[in-house]
Amino acid sequence: MIKVLKFGGASIKNSKRIENVFSIIDKYKGQKIIIVFSAIADITNLLEDLVELYINRESGVKNKLLEIKEIHFGILDNLFNKNDKVYEKINNIFDEIDLILDTKPHKFFSFNYDQIVSKGELLSSIILSDYLNLKKTNNFLLDSRDFIKTDSKFQNAKIDWLLTKKKIKEKITDFPIVTQGFVGSDMSNNPTTLGREGSDFTAAIIANSLDVDEVIIWKDVNGVLNADPRYFDNPLLLDNISFSEAIELAFYGAKVIHPKTIQPLQQKNIPLSVRSFLNYENKGTIINSSEPKDIIPLYIVKENQVLISISDNNLSFIVEEHLSWIFSVLSKHDVSLNLMQNSAVSFSICVDNIKHKIPSLIEELSNKFTVFYNEKVELFTIRHYNSLSIERVIKNKKILLQQKSRNTVQFIVA
Ligand code: ADP
Ligand code: ASP
Ligand code: MG
Repeated sequence: MIKVLKFGGASIKNSKRIENVFSIIDKYKGQKIIIVFSAIADITNLLEDLVELYINRESGVKNKLLEIKEIHFGILDNLFNKNDKVYEKINNIFDEIDLILDTKPHKFFSFNYDQIVSKGELLSSIILSDYLNLKKTNNFLLDSRDFIKTDSKFQNAKIDWLLTKKKIKEKITDFPIVTQGFVGSDMSNNPTTLGREGSDFTAAIIANSLDVDEVIIWKDVNGVLNADPRYFDNPLLLDNISFSEAIELAFYGAKVIHPKTIQPLQQKNIPLSVRSFLNYENKGTIINSSEPKDIIPLYIVKENQVLISISDNNLSFIVEEHLSWIFSVLSKHDVSLNLMQNSAVSFSICVDNIKHKIPSLIEELSNKFTVFYNEKVELFTIRHYNSLSIERVIKNKKILLQQKSRNTVQFIVA
């Protein structure tokens, strides 16, 4: 029996939470476990800020690094003795970042991004591995760059499944293993990342490759809820959902699971549990091949969206050849659609507002078409909707666009 346990940033946000994570891991003593860690909460965001300052050659860059350093050393001070070897290891990673900051940025933003942002998971996994050792849970710390092999599409790297499976089987032989989520490497061994929130996906890649028995991801919520708790009061815990419903939920943007996580698990019929690291005795939600008995409305919110409306300068129809050009531009800018809709003379798309992609996308679209866009809009999706659930979502909101199918209704609201 092999199990993959994945701990996200919130579960290791401070020393108390790290002690709590140890209590969870301790329950699996003697079992074959692979533990995947994300970066400590908010560190990926801070590293993103750091990259931004670095490529713009701004003066605040070293202060930002200091801020990130202080968070990590603050945690070390609470968990370890001052003379523990872990201090040197963490210092070395910061020296590596410092070295990058002192060199001229690479011409591709995403390359710089992956060089720097990937360090977040390295830092957290070193701390966790050493802390587990300190607690007499001796473990093997593996560098995910040695087995998650990808193409060179930095910031959103695609997995080379054949090679990755081979490497995982070679490297993961003893247990427990501690490793990093989100991070891999390309064929020239440059670090790559799998897209924000990608640690869940790493857990699924390892699970699929080793045909494990179960994956458990530990969250700050009791499991998968029928609504995003940041937007809706009193969401209900779903005891069980099917793989296909989970894929839909993740696809429409339920932040609780990364969209790429489910498919590798479904392929090998590996159950995924989503459980609370705070109430860790609770069962949480099980995602597997069985369909739940009750179907209730599920509410999903995707924030920070841009609604882009594209129309022909002469108000002529948007026909296939226009669409095919628009799609090729979207693909060139590596932007995926969260919703699209066309009328006679305009084509509307809703996309994530990614700083380094959307302005250049809009610029290129504007070369050929008239383009209007609304920033800071939200995309609400209701699966298994009814009139009551729609009322709950759209009440007092300005609706810019809506789309309905048999199972799903979506609203873009300002
Ligand atoms: P991690 O610490 O693993 O990175 P995240 O913060 O990315 O965890 O994901 C957990 C968060 O997802 C929850 O705190 C909750 O606010 C949000 N969330 C959105 N939709 C749902 C949902 N349907 N069920 C549970 N949590 C949800
Ligand atoms: N640390 C990365 C992020 O915040 C990956 C993850 O947490 O899954 O996006
Ligand atoms: Mg997350």
